[in-house]
Amino acid sequence: MATNRTFTMLKPDSIEKGNIGAILEKITTSGFRIVAMKMTQLSTANCEEFYAIHSERPFFGELITYMTRGAIVAAILEKENAVEDFRALIGATNPADAAEGTIRKLYADSMGENAVHGSDSNENAEIEGNFHFSGREQF
Ligand code: GDP
Repeated sequence: MATNRTFTMLKPDSIEKGNIGAILEKITTSGFRIVAMKMTQLSTANCEEFYAIHSERPFFGELITYMTRGAIVAAILEKENAVEDFRALIGATNPADAAEGTIRKLYADSMGENAVHGSDSNENAEIEGNFHFSGREQF
């Protein structure tokens, strides 16, 4: 099951710019089914835990400030080959390097404010989905 699911967040810049609808449209017309979704805001503690792998990186402080400054939309997506296909759909971390037509090319401004998150492995998709959606929900 995990091989067919990935986890995404529409980051605060996407919400601030009014891009929720356009990005979700792009996701669903690209063949992803939204299995679970919520609008929420990350606390500093939750955000630091979510991005713990980056805690030693020089941009960690900026990343936490960015990701906690406003609402996000968290969602679990389903599609065959979901993790890899979604990474292709969002494009490179730096929108300047992202391919034409990708979400980051269309909607992101910079490496620091890059519109969307997409899990980078099946294992992380499951961990990140569970982080945001408790086991109490059935989907
Ligand atoms: P991703 O898997 O494409 O999201 O990229 P990474 O896992 O390498 O980085 C996680 C997130 O940290 C990125 O999506 C950016 O929001 C942020 N980030 C990565 N590199 C930088 C950087 O050099 N500067 C800043 N400010 N943020 C960065």
